[in-house]
Amino acid sequence: METRILLIVGSILLCCGCVGMLIVRFSNPVLRGLGWLGGSFAAGAAGAAILAFSDGPLADSYVLAADTLILLGFVLLQICILELTESVSLVPRLGIALLTIQFLSFAVYHYIHRVNPYSIVTFGILVALQALQAANTLKKSLRPGMLAPSWLSIAILVIFAVFNFFRSGAILLIGAPHDPTSPNPYQLVSVIVFLGTGLGIGFAVFWMTSSQICILLEQLANTDPLTGIHNRRSFMTMCERELLRSSRTAESFSLIMMDIDHFKQINDRFGHPTGDAALRAVVEKLRDSVRNIDVVARWGGEEFVALLPGANSEAALIVAQRLRRKVETLAIQRPPSRASSGISNRPNIEVTISLGVATYLGPNDSIDALINRCDQALYQAKSAGRNRVV
Ligand code: GH3
Ligand code: MG
Ligand code: MG
Repeated sequence: METRILLIVGSILLCCGCVGMLIVRFSNPVLRGLGWLGGSFAAGAAGAAILAFSDGPLADSYVLAADTLILLGFVLLQICILELTESVSLVPRLGIALLTIQFLSFAVYHYIHRVNPYSIVTFGILVALQALQAANTLKKSLRPGMLAPSWLSIAILVIFAVFNFFRSGAILLIGAPHDPTSPNPYQLVSVIVFLGTGLGIGFAVFWMTSSQICILLEQLANTDPLTGIHNRRSFMTMCERELLRSSRTAESFSLIMMDIDHFKQINDRFGHPTGDAALRAVVEKLRDSVRNIDVVARWGGEEFVALLPGANSEAALIVAQRLRRKVETLAIQRPPSRASSGISNRPNIEVTISLGVATYLGPNDSIDALINRCDQALYQAKSAGRNRVV
């Protein structure tokens, strides 16, 4: 197959990929990286098109210009990966340095006016370095839920870099083809590797962005928006998992159900925003007062639940008493009112919670039954005067 036809087909495919990525990116603001990937494809498409038509007296300059555009495509890919991995800065410092070297070599070789082996070797090394940096950026920010597409991208980029180092080494050892613009098998292999890398990376990045959306949706579905902790749905899933684990290992676990005392009064006296702030402050205290493996979730309204893996009833009662005491020490500031002017003089709002504790009783027990017992215990704590554990 003639290299030129392959380059034209590749250029058209990259152009279509570019348009597709830009349409998807701008129709969905949540998607990250695809705009830069579109730019990367555009640079690659322009490079392939220039290579396809690089003949005549300026052929060598065209090859150098195409190489520079392809390197720019890989630098844009690095920005795409930085955006995708939520890096603080999107500035591709190494890429800018590599492009500067490529521009300098472009100027030198253009002045000499021939594509000597060193220009091909320079480009091969620069583009390989950029691919390795992109692979390293991905490796450093591997995330569960995105492992398969991330490793696929890393593999493609590393293979591409190794190919380019190998190609550069081979050219240094045995020299470049006499006429790099005329069809030859080495050039054909290079073009196939470049286009294959572009399309493979396009697929892998698209896969990564869709995985990222799945992670985001899962987070939204499992998180309480006001407090940022697990919601009831997510809590029930974890309880069912814990029940299965305990029925296998015969280890105990406990649940605590908590309800803020007279919370309606806080809303009525100080307003809903202060009520929300009190809910967030209570959650912070609860999270700070449990172990890493314990889970605190919002059951609904001003009610919270905690799952304590491995805790028997004595341990759970100790934890519950600790939570009660910690919340009791909370000092929530009253909002400024017309009556009081100095912030420091404003007395704090006091918050207390009532807690009901229940422990797993063995294989015949269920999560519904456990929650029911917690609820009854909480009701007793309320009836007995509040700010207590049952
Ligand atoms: P008790 O001691 O018996 O639990 O009394 P209570 O006032 O805490 O209980 P009640 O069920 O009468 O009131 C709960 C209040 O919690 C009513 C509701 O407006 C408020 N609430 C529920 N969710 C939110 C929320 O997200 N933000 C705010 N600010 N208030 C909430
Ligand atoms: Mg309640
Ligand atoms: Mg309440």
